[in-house]
Amino acid sequence: MLIVMKSDATERDIEAVVRVVNDMGFRAHQMPGATRTAIGVTGNPGAIDPTHFENMPGVAEAIRVTKPYKLISLDLRPEKTVVRVGDATIGGDELAIIAGPCAVESRAQTLAVAEAVRRSGARFFRGGAFKPRTSPYAFQGLGEEGLKILAEVRETYGLKIVTEAMDERGLEMVEKYADVIQLGARNMQNFSLLKRAGHSRLPVLLKRGLSATLDEWLLAAEYVMAEGNYNVVLCERGIRTFAQHTRNTLDLAAVPAVRRLSHLPVIVDPSHGTGKSYMVAALARAGVAVGADGLIIEVHDQPDHALCDGAQAITLDAYTQLAAEVRAIHEVITPTPVV
Ligand code: PEP
Ligand code: MN
Repeated sequence: MLIVMKSDATERDIEAVVRVVNDMGFRAHQMPGATRTAIGVTGNPGAIDPTHFENMPGVAEAIRVTKPYKLISLDLRPEKTVVRVGDATIGGDELAIIAGPCAVESRAQTLAVAEAVRRSGARFFRGGAFKPRTSPYAFQGLGEEGLKILAEVRETYGLKIVTEAMDERGLEMVEKYADVIQLGARNMQNFSLLKRAGHSRLPVLLKRGLSATLDEWLLAAEYVMAEGNYNVVLCERGIRTFAQHTRNTLDLAAVPAVRRLSHLPVIVDPSHGTGKSYMVAALARAGVAVGADGLIIEVHDQPDHALCDGAQAITLDAYTQLAAEVRAIHEVITPTPVV
């Protein structure tokens, strides 16, 4: 059920609707918009009779939702969500650039990359302290020590920190040191982790699963939102296909596909999306051209010596040039209209 309030509905009208929803044992999610507030109802096992709400003061209409998702939907919120991270935004007018190494390897490496990221004008720094590696013998990340290095980057350069939480205990640690919680492709359907992230005060960057359909990905975002955290950013990072010329196949069509259904910001990861450093700039430019709200890019001061994902890391110089190029593209494209 989606309850759309009239544009002149008062706070009291909205509160009265929320109270009725709560009294029915369900959850009311208020989504204030530019012209009106909508209230999404979750927790109801079956359809709710719209007549419960239709005659209440301030209610424009009560609509049954037939799609599997409610809160991520443009029906609930026709204008785009702008995720605010302090004074930086994702989904606003500015292109959000999140750059940094795959993994925090040492203080020296991390600060060297951070300096270049800051100089490029980007507002966000990435770097994993907990790494989901295919092999148990591969570098697993520095853990809390890595988070402390990231906190130093935040302190020194004023960059917002985006870092992955692989489990609930890690998420609690990430909450102490970071600004955005990254949930990785391999965890996109870790439902207990999604629910825990739904209780966080921090925004969530939700990577698309390696073989996730659009609906599965959007429903994963719905899990986070259903718990009350509405600050979710979707990230297209490539899916597994038969292609052998790339690590993953970057599905750029996902960007307009998400845009058609959801108000959530969507960014593109050309690093995991290709796995090859020589392709990163081309696909980053393409990602911005198809209307992404931002990019997440792996950068290393010494890609040849990287402990994780070196083959897809671009150098500091290549990154500096790319940041300028994608900004220029972002300036000339008109935002994709919602259709
Ligand atoms: C990463 O960002 O380094 C990462 C592990 O990404 P993904 O979950 O998309 O593989
Ligand atoms: Mn990586």
